[in-house]
Amino acid sequence: MANYDISVAHLYGNLMNTYGDYGNIIALTYYAKQIGVSVDYHLVSLGDEFDAIAYDFVLFGGGQDYEETIVANDLKSKTNQLHDYIENDGALLAICGGFQLLGKYMIMADGTKVDGIGVMDHYTTNMYDDKLTTLTGERLTGNIVIKNNETDETYHGFENHQGRTFLGESERSLGTVISGNGNNGMDKTEGVIYRNVYGSYFHGPIFTRNGNLAKRVLITILNKKYPTIDWHSMLEAVETETF
Ligand code: GLN
Repeated sequence: MANYDISVAHLYGNLMNTYGDYGNIIALTYYAKQIGVSVDYHLVSLGDEFDAIAYDFVLFGGGQDYEETIVANDLKSKTNQLHDYIENDGALLAICGGFQLLGKYMIMADGTKVDGIGVMDHYTTNMYDDKLTTLTGERLTGNIVIKNNETDETYHGFENHQGRTFLGESERSLGTVISGNGNNGMDKTEGVIYRNVYGSYFHGPIFTRNGNLAKRVLITILNKKYPTIDWHSMLEAVETETF
């Protein structure tokens, strides 16, 4: 039997791993294993090169403002390769802080503006009083449920963020908020889909709680790498875990 494998980059996995976002890779590996695909894990962190053609999946997890500031600085050196990876339809899951940093900028809770790498069109802001001195918006925390109207899938998660993200014109949401806050607590959008990039504020992690999404992304990854195989049918035979 042929050997199939996928190569996974965990971007800043030692700094950006809020609520065990690494569990997304465990979930992906769990499904991959059942259809005979092995997963090679690579931590890509501060000072490391990110090679756009070396990976089949990238996870960029969440972090708090302090870690995000450190990562934002280093991320500049990876901008071109990440841009190429995304525009070449590479699959990527970005959670919370990772989601924020792929966009244009983010305004931290203390009012500091941190540049994102702008490989995607969204931006993240915060809510202040008129003098821009006091944070007025409450933290967006709690259980959340969204529905993706394109696939009819429902996703469950837990959100905990201060930043408010607004999507750009080229982007569509991962889903519409059924209960909870979502990207900004205002426009009922949650997360983002752009090419094969999925962004979300969901911890939980999103792939362990929503096996339907994990399988969907795994099919995308495998179809790109091994296009002659019917991965969809193979994964359909594997039971989907949801929590
Ligand atoms: N620091 C960001 C915010 O609070 C991201 C938080 C996170 O990744 N959980 O908006």
